[in-house]
Amino acid sequence: MQFNKLIVIFLGLSSQIYGETIHNVIIIGGGPAAYSAAVCTANGKLTPLVIEGSSPGGQPLKAGDIKNWPGMPNINGAELVGNIQEHAKKLGAQIIEDTVTRVDFKQKPYVVYTKKEKFLAHTIIIATGSEPVKLNCPGEKKYFGKGIIVCAQCDGYLFENQPVVIVGGGYSALRELGLMLKHTQQIMLINPDKALSGPQFLINYANDPHVKVLHNTSVKQVIGDGERVTAIEVVDKETNVTQKINANGILIGLGWRPNGTLFKGQLTFNDKGEILVTNNVFTKELGIFAAGDVASSTKHQLFIAAGRGYEAGMAAEKYLVEQGLI
Ligand SMILES: Cc1cc2nc3c(=O)[nH]c(=O)nc-3n(C[C@H](O)[C@H](O)[C@H](O)COP(=O)(O)OP(=O)(O)OC[C@H]3O[C@@H](n4cnc5c(N)ncnc54)[C@H](O)[C@@H]3O)c2cc1C
Repeated sequence: MQFNKLIVIFLGLSSQIYGETIHNVIIIGGGPAAYSAAVCTANGKLTPLVIEGSSPGGQPLKAGDIKNWPGMPNINGAELVGNIQEHAKKLGAQIIEDTVTRVDFKQKPYVVYTKKEKFLAHTIIIATGSEPVKLNCPGEKKYFGKGIIVCAQCDGYLFENQPVVIVGGGYSALRELGLMLKHTQQIMLINPDKALSGPQFLINYANDPHVKVLHNTSVKQVIGDGERVTAIEVVDKETNVTQKINANGILIGLGWRPNGTLFKGQLTFNDKGEILVTNNVFTKELGIFAAGDVASSTKHQLFIAAGRGYEAGMAAEKYLVEQGLI
């Protein structure tokens, strides 16, 4: 098997020679999707290069305990993603702490520029993830992970039968509301807009008698006792009247911001700013794959991000074989 081919180009009749390595696979990202893609491609002896960005480990580092990784009833997010990274390294993945600043997918091999270097590759796996949209109010930073959550499926169990505020009035918030109702029947929905928006089956959750809705209301601050959230202060946008709502949990249901800006002009996106993929990982560009939270196939779940990363690794290997590149 041939690894990282060395290209030697002679310029005219001069003796000037330069060589550049073409990587089989470059993986952009350092979260569960990226490291799982690295496990897959390193296992296939493709010596992937992983450029992990400024937050190695990704979102699981902020997640605390993970309770929905099949086969692991409870594992710390940092430990889980660290294990995947370690596994990839043991199989031979090269992992570097650098950030991709620019890409050129219009030429082959594909070009990836980082803060420090330039790399060439036959295939690229993009796994740059996403970030939950924040409230941007006082108290949020202090109590994030200490009563403030972003995912009912992941952390709803923390608030069994306790008062919870959900912020948002669109698709994300209503979906989270449906999931949160499985854990508690003391829910206040703070809708920043005048009406809820989303499919009727989701809006129906807000009609549950255990849910109170405040429309046209914004969050002023998150209040806590120094350790955990105890309340939230909100303001009516029309009357300017503020009120304090006691709550043990605050779920921010304002959606997610995908980290895909870097690839604008090179790939196709959906209206949420996610890289548009078909069959889970295939972008429109041959040999370029996207996996995890940055891709339109995301479910914003760790296990699914890892699975899609692995799938992208398999797709990259198949592409290399079919193109006669390995
Ligand atoms: C607080 C919180 C709790 C959560 N709890 C759970 C849970 O309990 N269960 C669950 O299933 N899911 C949970 N999730 C969701 C889960 O963590 C994500 O779905 C998953 O991490 C997505 O993985 P990813 O690899 O696609 O992206 P991310 O984890 O977002 O990783 C993205 C990676 O890309 C890198 N990157 C970004 N830009 C660049 C660049 N320009 N160059 C190079 N690298 C770059 C970053 O450094 C980062 O390493 C939680 C999320 C949050 C925020």
